[in-house]
Amino acid sequence: MSFQRTFSDDLARERRARLRAERLYEQVRRELLAANERLKAHAFSLSHQIIAQREELSAVRSLAEALKGQNSKVSEDLHTAHSHVKLANTRLREAVESLIDGFAVFDANQVLILVNPAYLRLFEDFPEMRLGIRYKRMIEICAHEGLVKLDDQSPDDWVSMMMSRWAAEVIEPVELHFNHGFSVRLIDRRAENGDFVSLANDITKMLEYQAELIDAQKRAEAAAEAKSAFLANMSHEIRTPMNGMVGMAQLLVETDLDDEQRNYAETISKSGESLVTIINDILDFSNMDAGRLELRPEVIDLEKTIHDVMIMLAPAARDKRVELILDYDMFLVDRVKTDRGRLRQVLTNLVGNAIKFTDTGYVLVRAIGVGHTAHGQMINLTVEDTGIGISKTNQDHIFTEFSQVEEMANRRFEGTGLGLAITRQIVAAMGGQIWVESEEGIGSCFGISLELPSDGENAGQDMVKLDPSIKSVLIISDHLISREIIARRLQAAGVTTTTATQIDASMRQIAKSRPDRVLLDQDLSAAPAETVLSGLAEHVPDTPVVMLCSDLLAAQALRRAKRIHAALPKPMLWRDLVCALGASAGDCAPCAEAGIPAHRPPEPQREELRVLYAEDNRTNQLVFSKMLKGLKLDLTLAENGRQAVARFKELQPDVIFMDISMPEMDGREATQAIRALPGGAHVPIIACTAHALRDEIDRIMAVGINAVLTKPLNKTELIKALQDHAPSGFDLTGP
Ligand code: ADP
Repeated sequence: MSFQRTFSDDLARERRARLRAERLYEQVRRELLAANERLKAHAFSLSHQIIAQREELSAVRSLAEALKGQNSKVSEDLHTAHSHVKLANTRLREAVESLIDGFAVFDANQVLILVNPAYLRLFEDFPEMRLGIRYKRMIEICAHEGLVKLDDQSPDDWVSMMMSRWAAEVIEPVELHFNHGFSVRLIDRRAENGDFVSLANDITKMLEYQAELIDAQKRAEAAAEAKSAFLANMSHEIRTPMNGMVGMAQLLVETDLDDEQRNYAETISKSGESLVTIINDILDFSNMDAGRLELRPEVIDLEKTIHDVMIMLAPAARDKRVELILDYDMFLVDRVKTDRGRLRQVLTNLVGNAIKFTDTGYVLVRAIGVGHTAHGQMINLTVEDTGIGISKTNQDHIFTEFSQVEEMANRRFEGTGLGLAITRQIVAAMGGQIWVESEEGIGSCFGISLELPSDGENAGQDMVKLDPSIKSVLIISDHLISREIIARRLQAAGVTTTTATQIDASMRQIAKSRPDRVLLDQDLSAAPAETVLSGLAEHVPDTPVVMLCSDLLAAQALRRAKRIHAALPKPMLWRDLVCALGASAGDCAPCAEAGIPAHRPPEPQREELRVLYAEDNRTNQLVFSKMLKGLKLDLTLAENGRQAVARFKELQPDVIFMDISMPEMDGREATQAIRALPGGAHVPIIACTAHALRDEIDRIMAVGINAVLTKPLNKTELIKALQDHAPSGFDLTGP
């Protein structure tokens, strides 16, 4: 029993122990399992961490790699930049050193910190001049060591001038002339950091060239001067005998000659005139070539200026029976500012050409206002002819020098081919334009347009008004254009006009209309003017007849015979026509032009005009007296200036003609002497000179001359000058 119990006890204990052990085991196993689970979770999270860290590491690694790459690029770039800078520095240094011009940099304290050899070369003998020197010291060396030419300045003044230059806000360049021969233009700049950059521009060669150029220019000017003086002298010398030749030939033509003799005399006269034109053209061209085309604007009467030129050329037109017509725009101002002489020259050439190249028909000069500008009036002047015309191809060339349409071989017209070239240059100098329209065989129209400052109102237009009692005018003329121009202006003045072309018609008109005035053209083709006058005297004996004439002398005879009331040269000036028909004021005093000395009061008791002519050349004396033959004058001759003064005292002449180049006392001195004498201040003195240069003519005018006639003298111009300066109302052609 006890055994049994013991065993079962043992068993039980063992079972309990086993059970405990099993429970323990189970607990430990669970704990182990839990620990394992935790371990696993930990390991899992660790592995995650590791993975993340690895990724991070790898990212960091690649970043590091990238940075490493960048770093090496940066250092590579740095290296490249460094070498570039080095290269640039080298280049800059080499460039600065090889500069022909001096280059230097001073720091803000004006101490030299960079300089090139060219700069230093200016101070070759001054070793002090090197890096580190102060600007002021450098300037002092220049001034006190006699390095630089100071002109009239003292060294101290010059130093302070150079120092204050650098103190200025903008440093002006300065030229330095070194005594060793170099010249530089110093261009200094203040840099942003306060440095001064100084460039010494070598102008030595440039100044040498400049001096050479000035020298060459002076020599060229002297040569041109000599050429012009030679030409002027030649022209003077040629003109003196030409005066005898042309004058005598002109007089010879007017004598009783047979056809053959007349032909010879006319050829001499025409050739002489052409020679004068050639001399004038060449003289003018040479002056323009030397750049001496200066304009002398003055207030002129435009209508009168154009008219004067046409009157001067009228004899040539009359000889060819070419009608000269002036159409001056009635609304155009007449006082304008321009160079009278040059405008006359332009018109003389254009109208002269028109007459030269026209055998039948007319030459019409129109002046038309084409608008106002800020500076004056735009004016178109046209010269229209019915001559030979110019082909389209030739129209392009005629304005160039020495160009003529005709070939040398078939040359029919005289000329130099310079006239239009000179005209073009004058018009261009006046700021205008010139053009031509032409058709071969039909005619040409040359035009110039000019902008001319106008002076005041329509003085000329308002000056003379037609007598309001003149209500109707009959115009008898063959020229349609002339008739229309006159009719248009008369109609604008409120006059009724009728026109007729031939005697029968005119008589019918007269019978019908009984006009207040008749305007009769001297050149009628159907009947001589005298026949018409007889008809008029029969039908309307009391109607005043005004004759428009190309031959004034013939008309004067008719006037003296009281067959006509007045004679007007063609082309006529509107104000003269008004005076001739009857001006409202009753007299024509306003017609006395500005520029023409005031007419002195008429001296009715005077029989003859006392004229004194001072001229040393016998031939010229003869030409002069013959040209004035037949006029009512008492001519006294003087052989030099001294005699002229003496004759003036004795005779108190009405008009004096004065040669300029005379022995003993020249024309200028004589004029001055006469002007100082009692009664001498106002006597008209007209110079007759072989000088044609403007400067010379100006010098002549300056001594108190009233007008200048250039030799060779032209009979028409001479008589016109005499008429212009005779006491007003004096009739030179009277019986
Ligand atoms: P020239 O002294 O020969 O007249 P210009 O220079 O005045 O010289 O004229 C050049 C040329 O132009 C003339 O030779 C002529 O052939 C031509 N010409 C000029 N004006 C006219 C005109 N009104 N009618 C026809 N031809 C003209």
